[in-house]
Amino acid sequence: MIASTALTHIARSKVFVEAQAKVNLALELLGKRDDGYHEIATLLQGVNLADRILLEERDDGITISSSDPSLPEGPENLAWRAARLVQEARQVSRGVHIMIEKRIPVAAGLGGGSTDAAAVLLGLQRLWGLDGNPEELRAWAMSLGMDVPFFLRGGRVLAEGRGERLTSLPSRPGHHLVLVNPNFPLVTRDVYGWVGFVRPKGTHGLGPLIAALARGEAAAVGSLLHNDLEPLVAARYPEVGEICTVLRGAGARGVVMSGSGPTMIALADSAPHAAAMVGATRGRPWSVWVLATTPGPAARIRPLGPGAATEREADSRARRGRAGASGSCDWGVAKR
Ligand code: ATP
Repeated sequence: MIASTALTHIARSKVFVEAQAKVNLALELLGKRDDGYHEIATLLQGVNLADRILLEERDDGITISSSDPSLPEGPENLAWRAARLVQEARQVSRGVHIMIEKRIPVAAGLGGGSTDAAAVLLGLQRLWGLDGNPEELRAWAMSLGMDVPFFLRGGRVLAEGRGERLTSLPSRPGHHLVLVNPNFPLVTRDVYGWVGFVRPKGTHGLGPLIAALARGEAAAVGSLLHNDLEPLVAARYPEVGEICTVLRGAGARGVVMSGSGPTMIALADSAPHAAAMVGATRGRPWSVWVLATTPGPAARIRPLGPGAATEREADSRARRGRAGASGSCDWGVAKR
């Protein structure tokens, strides 16, 4: 009896949350707002690369430890800020220790900090026995950052405005992606600071890509991937162009930079096709992942213990077809 009470207590005092990354299949700059943000339209997609976060109840306070020593462990960590927000909003007197196993590269355009924050918001509902009102959760997410609400929803989403206006789109899981990161960080704010243009019409042109994705037309999807920030980054970091050239040379359907970079995403038709792209990057000083798209939500509470890895869930149902490169890796200065 005593043992079972103790076990129940242990089970209640820890919550394990998975925090998946996102990629941007397209990103358009539509205007500059008075509040300093850019008006954007972007197509976000959850993928099965995830940080693992263990929340452990404490009597008071918020502490963080992380597998990545470069990450801040105080209020500069978005996960810490998420916990403080919940504590203050609900006047929770209890505390939490947040352990982050960082698997998403930092400052890579994959939303690592934002997904951690969403995961902490979600996990604390369980840990502290709150009621998890979805509206409130969404408002908290938005106050932490424009990207954060996406991770509560996940899947494939059109994000507009500053990135906070979300429309879910149908998405089948298991499309293969190859991600290549050149192992240097980019600060989102810096990249947006380089923007000297916006699309003239002020309305987005993502309709054809959304339609091609819905129809599962891989060749069309590949040719329609685009990111208005990519030429700005490529002009300053030639490695981005090199990655693009290597992936296209290995038959990628399409290659695009994710978010504010510098991670590049390539579409593959199948696992062997993805493996060929990975082979082409061998010997380069880059980090490479073969991933699959996932349905939402991107932040998920998981059972405690081993075997909760998202990769196991990755569905390898990829459409097969002939690989064909589209577009080019020469952005020139036309878009700048
Ligand atoms: P986005 O794609 O949303 O623009 P990103 O993936 O490019 O973001 P992040 O990995 O979120 O960038 O990191 C951006 C900055 O946020 C880094 O300087 C990092 O120190 C800080 N940061 C704070 N908390 C975290 C966290 N939990 N995980 C990663 N970075 C964090």
